Amino acid sequence: MPKVKHRHSKSRGRKRRTHWKLDEPALVKCSQCGKERTPHQVCPYCGYYKGKKVMHVETLEERRDRRDKRNKRAK
Ligand SMILES: [Zn+2]
Repeated sequence: MPKVKHRHSKSRGRKRRTHWKLDEPALVKCSQCGKERTPHQVCPYCGYYKGKKVMHVETLEERRDRRDKRNKRAK
């Protein structure tokens, strides 16, 4: 097994790690609602993909109704 001969300085290690960076996420504007979304994926805000509705996105009101119904049933 190869062995390291000399320990590197703190500065040397830190200089090397200055290149460890995260890429900014690629974002595109949704053609339906105009919000920023990740490419090649269904828009999480309107549920459209390639101009077609493929997923139902619950509105705040629907969410509230669902919660109320659930709470009523529990009593
Ligand atoms: Zn959208």
